[in-house]
Amino acid sequence: MPRFRAPKERSAEPLPGFKLAHPMISVDGTSGGFSGVSLGRTRAYRVIADAECAQGASHRSPARWCDCGFYCLHAIADARALTCDPDYRYAVLLEIVASGRYIRYERGLRYERQRVTKVRVGRCGCGQQAQLLADMGEGLVGWRRLLPVCTSCAGRRRIVSFEAFSRLLAGTPVVADEPGIVPDAELADTDEATLVPLLTAEVALLQARLDAVQRELARLTEPRKN
Ligand SMILES: [Zn+2]
Ligand SMILES: [Zn+2]
Repeated sequence: MPRFRAPKERSAEPLPGFKLAHPMISVDGTSGGFSGVSLGRTRAYRVIADAECAQGASHRSPARWCDCGFYCLHAIADARALTCDPDYRYAVLLEIVASGRYIRYERGLRYERQRVTKVRVGRCGCGQQAQLLADMGEGLVGWRRLLPVCTSCAGRRRIVSFEAFSRLLAGTPVVADEPGIVPDAELADTDEATLVPLLTAEVALLQARLDAVQRELARLTEPRKN
């Protein structure tokens, strides 16, 4: 946990951040939301939400003497790194903007008001990129948890497509998040558009080096004149 650094402030500008959360669907299937992974896992929040005290106190959140409030990290890499932790493995990565009162930490914020601007869905339990969200059937009172799955692992579970979940989140984009792995289609494009010129340049460079080596070799093997 990042170390407390500064007293609470208030931002006029919305502050962007990243966090992990479990995707949720309301029991009547008409609305989408999220729940926290560690602190805040006992309640669901919607796309736009105000923090409430997780301890059930009536004070405004966040407060210096209480650990409640929304949390986010400044860097997407820090949030993505957390997805390797078993506790966060089936969570999705949220892009958010924070506003209202906040407390700043070295690597993130604890804050009062949040708007989710993008949902990035990572891997299925089998290791493949998830393409769907499966209804787990249970979660919190009024909300069922959704689990990122690939088409092979979805089986007979009730599923929610990324598009459908986006609609339940008032149009907030829901996308696959697989950094570092280039889809086959893009590789094919690379072959056509980029790879050939790249290889041509590489060959030209090798040819130039070979010419230089041959010149050097010729100079060294030339019979001495004196
Ligand atoms: Zn509190
Ligand atoms: Zn799978």
